[in-house]
Amino acid sequence: MTEEAPRRYRLVGYHDLREWDEVFEGRVPLVPGTGNFCDRCGLEHAKVYEVEDREKGAVFAVGSTCVKRIFAGIDPEGKELRRARKEYRDQRDEALEALHEEAVLEVAGRVLARLPEVLPEFRVEETARLVGPEKGVPFPVMVVELAGVRGAAWMTGAPANEEAERERERCAFGDALGKLVGEEWAKVEFPEVVREYKVRGRAFEVICERHAATRWVLMP
Ligand SMILES: [Zn+2]
Repeated sequence: MTEEAPRRYRLVGYHDLREWDEVFEGRVPLVPGTGNFCDRCGLEHAKVYEVEDREKGAVFAVGSTCVKRIFAGIDPEGKELRRARKEYRDQRDEALEALHEEAVLEVAGRVLARLPEVLPEFRVEETARLVGPEKGVPFPVMVVELAGVRGAAWMTGAPANEEAERERERCAFGDALGKLVGEEWAKVEFPEVVREYKVRGRAFEVICERHAATRWVLMP
């Protein structure tokens, strides 16, 4: 086994300072002045590579251009850079997922704790006839109230039968419950979680799993 001479430079870290927008699945552009200033060239950049210089016994934070220059001779294919970036992305995704789940369970738990208190207040408030947005056709709207929160559902062109009525009631109930989730969600402070819509949906799923999901079908 041949022993390799220790390399002078080693990549020890990578991160991206731009915030991740979960809705658009992209990076939010860096606000000038909030980035990192490259230890090698002094330019501002968002992608930060931490390079250990064993000769100097120090770690430097440099940008994409400079890291490629530093590793040009020893990692011409850029394998180490790709590995570092992948590792960073995996860690970030795991952290976000964990945060989502934490937030989801917290919100779902609070809504579930409120259900016994709010369910007795559940009622089908009215079945109104509104004029539809298309062709001025009137269609029925079902409105339910849950703890003072109103949820609504309508169906266009659906035949009036019991099954359709229940489906409408379920939708209206779901709408009201979704608003309750939203209320609780607003109290949670997870600034990193911007995939609010998906998280709300997940919280709703958890509530339905844990509470008898079909309960509202039996509601008056
Ligand atoms: Zn640089």
